[in-house]
Amino acid sequence: SAWLGVMGGGQLGRMFAHAAQAMGFKVAVLEPGQDCPAGQVAERLIPGAYTDQSALAELAAQCVAITTEFENVPAGSMAWLGERSFVAPSATCVSIAQDRIAEKRFFVDCAPTSGVMPAPHKTIASHADIDAIDDDLLPGILKTVRMGYDGKGQVRVRSREDVRAAFDAMSGVTCLLEKMLPLAYEVSVLTARGADGASVVYPIAENVHRDGILFTTTVPGPNVSDACAKQAQDAARAIVDQLGYVGVLCIEFFVLIDGTLVVNEMAPRPHNSGHYTMDACITSQFAQQVRAMARLPLGEVRQHSPAVMLNILGDVWFEGNSDTPREPAWDRVLALPGANLHLYGKDDPRRARKMGHVTFVAPTLATAQASLLKACAILGIPA
Ligand code: ATP
Ligand code: MG
Ligand code: MG
Repeated sequence: SAWLGVMGGGQLGRMFAHAAQAMGFKVAVLEPGQDCPAGQVAERLIPGAYTDQSALAELAAQCVAITTEFENVPAGSMAWLGERSFVAPSATCVSIAQDRIAEKRFFVDCAPTSGVMPAPHKTIASHADIDAIDDDLLPGILKTVRMGYDGKGQVRVRSREDVRAAFDAMSGVTCLLEKMLPLAYEVSVLTARGADGASVVYPIAENVHRDGILFTTTVPGPNVSDACAKQAQDAARAIVDQLGYVGVLCIEFFVLIDGTLVVNEMAPRPHNSGHYTMDACITSQFAQQVRAMARLPLGEVRQHSPAVMLNILGDVWFEGNSDTPREPAWDRVLALPGANLHLYGKDDPRRARKMGHVTFVAPTLATAQASLLKACAILGIPA
């Protein structure tokens, strides 16, 4: 059978491997770390840095197509692989999504067709840039241009002095200052596009974050109007088309208090807010990634059941201030109506670490939400 390759061995790679194997592929994972979630299930683990030429050469020689599950994979490595195998998404698309300046510029370029703009922003690369900040950008959020995730590498700033202190504390790496916007709620749109240019757009998902980390995803979102859903889905389609993207891509949006839709960022891979598709849609985001990279027809994105996804962080292994982990009561969670538990095979729970997720699917959203509340109570998560 044919081999598919993935750069990165985290939980996204693990769930990708499961989907690929279900369709008869073998999976090779390139990952620098030891004992990774995807390495436990892949047919082959190629240990090595993301820039290790011999590891990359082995991956390219083995695989008919290669993708990434790690947002910050070196774009140069994707380009190198792309000369030797079919790579999706492309190095160019990955490099835009990795760099907040390039990403914002791209969103602005897309605005005539997407109809949405990113938050007002300015590149901060020097103290002179800070002196030149327009008052209208404050209060704001200073974000590192590269490598940020789960709200890491972000500081909220009220004044020019705050920006200076935050910029200096990030030891002078290039940052982006974004105006703090009055959010009503957050949504994301998962899309997939094939090498033939065909694209699909999943139902819009409503996301709640806690401490910068995704907490729940609800689909259909209780706050999302039909008009907002259509606007976000149309924008997402325009963005993937203009990118010439191949594979699964997730785009995050803000909905402001006045109803304005603002595009925030995109992830060039399956996304945490798309995990609900595994249990609630005809084709999961991981099966869709397999189809796109193997140049097979894209699958139907129709959602067959309302769904609520709850992220399971390492915190639920720890009672109160205890630092001795104990296994959560999965039996009680699994007894709830519509529960589907996904754990990522990580043996060392740590607070704020993504260990798994549970999706509740039910004939009505209210039933799924009732199960969510019970699960939070069982797991000791403040609802
Ligand atoms: P992710 O883990 O989603 O990749 P990230 O670290 O790349 O996160 P963002 O998604 O840009 O960072 O920001 C994290 C969260 O901070 C957002 O989901 C939103 O709640 C809040 N936030 C970010 N930018 C703004 C803004 N301009 N105005 C208001 N809130 C914001
Ligand atoms: Mg991000
Ligand atoms: Mg985000």
